[in-house]
Amino acid sequence: MSTTKENSEERALNFVEALIEEDIKLGTYQGRVHTRFPPEPNGYLHIGHAKSICLNFGLAKKYGGKCNLRFDDTNPVTEEVEYVDSIKEDVRWLGFQWDAELYASDYFEQLYEWAEMLIREGKAYVDDQTPEEIGKQRTSPTEPGIESPYRRRSAEENLDLFRRMRAGEFPEGSRVLRARIDMNSPNMHLRDPIMYRILHKPHHRTGDKWCIYPMYDWAHGQSDFLEGITHSICTLEFEVHRPLYDWFLDQLATDDYRPKQREMARLNLNYTVMSKRKLMKLVKEGYVNGWDDPRMPTISGFRRRGYTPEAIRVFSDRIGVAKRENVIDTAFLEHCLREDLNKRSPRVMAVLNPLKVIITNYPDQNQEWLDAVNNPEDPEAGTRKVPFGKEIYIERDDFMEDPPKKFFRLAPGREVRLRYAYFITCREVIKDASGTITALHCTYDPDTKGGNAPDGRKVKATLHWVSADEGVEIEARLYDRLFLTSAPEDVAEGEDFTVNLNPDSLKVVKGVAEPSLKGAKPMDHFQFERLGYFNVDPDSNEDCLVFNRTVTLKDDWAKIAKKA
Ligand code: ATP
Ligand code: MG
Repeated sequence: MSTTKENSEERALNFVEALIEEDIKLGTYQGRVHTRFPPEPNGYLHIGHAKSICLNFGLAKKYGGKCNLRFDDTNPVTEEVEYVDSIKEDVRWLGFQWDAELYASDYFEQLYEWAEMLIREGKAYVDDQTPEEIGKQRTSPTEPGIESPYRRRSAEENLDLFRRMRAGEFPEGSRVLRARIDMNSPNMHLRDPIMYRILHKPHHRTGDKWCIYPMYDWAHGQSDFLEGITHSICTLEFEVHRPLYDWFLDQLATDDYRPKQREMARLNLNYTVMSKRKLMKLVKEGYVNGWDDPRMPTISGFRRRGYTPEAIRVFSDRIGVAKRENVIDTAFLEHCLREDLNKRSPRVMAVLNPLKVIITNYPDQNQEWLDAVNNPEDPEAGTRKVPFGKEIYIERDDFMEDPPKKFFRLAPGREVRLRYAYFITCREVIKDASGTITALHCTYDPDTKGGNAPDGRKVKATLHWVSADEGVEIEARLYDRLFLTSAPEDVAEGEDFTVNLNPDSLKVVKGVAEPSLKGAKPMDHFQFERLGYFNVDPDSNEDCLVFNRTVTLKDDWAKIAKKA
């Protein structure tokens, strides 16, 4: 958390902070700051939502204000309690606590009463046309709109029809309630927007009580108003809705308190998609293993993969709050993550593609427990013991029988260092009948214990290794980008974004790790030396620990992209 704080104190104010400070100075809200995070519970939250969460809760914290968690639950067709629960878990995990948990559906009665008031004042009417007909009559911003034949209904008739809509007398789609604003406005949102539609669907909170449901624009600003929100931050596509947001409030407010809607650029990340609809498709059609699949850009996916809330908060803070659309490189998120994991992850040794090494001159039954440093970045993390014996495993990639010039690791006749242990020299390559290498015979130099030769001779490589007798079996899940292209939503006509999925985004391997990992708990973080940052997946059981590779040590993707 300290990094976030330092960063937010060092950098210039973003435009929302500047506005808030201005409002505090002017006393607009008597010094109050009250924000809200308003998710629709129709899916799991993604990293874009994390930006909004960090911003809204962060502002409340910074200015000693409040932040509500408000569920924008106005569409019973797509909303579920499962999503409500997951959203709460995600916000908490990110490190924030809401001041109040509220639901737009709590305001249905109040919204209904205000709608009747607008009808009585001639500012709303029931339209018997379909939404398609209504849409056509709005024409285009440069032409005047066409008035609905129902626009001049009397208040009495409108009131009667609206009450009967509520009573359930009409089928879905047969009528709507519209605000009567201006059919010639250059802003299409002011051309008599729809306030209510009929949906004969039970709601996860109000049950069968309602069969008319408010539209976003009618629910959102009024919810802000009822909660005493001061600064209502949304994404840029709502900028054109702002006049409507203000218009509704002007009709209802009895004093000059008004929440302010302001718009910021949404977070876009390359190599992924971020709309709930698309993420839903990946889940429902089985392209991934659920919303919390570690390849998903969901908060629950990042959590399961081993991302830390600290890394996500620092990332959110550093990308800032822009007024223009942009695309952030996923490599930057990974950079923030590595910075954090480097500080907090104990180092361990694991081998993911094992090749057996038999140290022929090592005493047969001998076993030693060697000192290993837990985290060079954190002296307080101390040391541990790792077992060493006659048979060990090294990474298959760390040996080449016929090495090219720049390969400095193990090869016939060559000496290398085993981390924390000894220098070994490869004497013989053992193969099976098919020619596959099954083991190496090496000798060790007992005088190099701890990793240094008393005569000062140098080796060009240090390898990680695991004792064959004492090592524990593990499964490692290695992830690559979920999509092959940086903008997966860019597809040819008639194609779907799923054509850009990376067929090799998950590789599962069996490996072996040092025994200190026994007893590791789900979500524990480690750095597997030379291999990357890993965390324990909840799929682990007593027989086998399962690890997710959270992120590699270096950004090998950037290198690949450069070469291509
Ligand atoms: P999606 O389009 O991904 O389904 P949404 O905007 O419909 O997202 P909501 O649940 O309505 O999702 O969003 C809750 C809040 O999160 C809103 O204030 C919205 O502006 C914000 N938000 C959603 N996506 C992003 C994003 N990519 N970057 C920043 N804020 C976002
Ligand atoms: Mg939405």
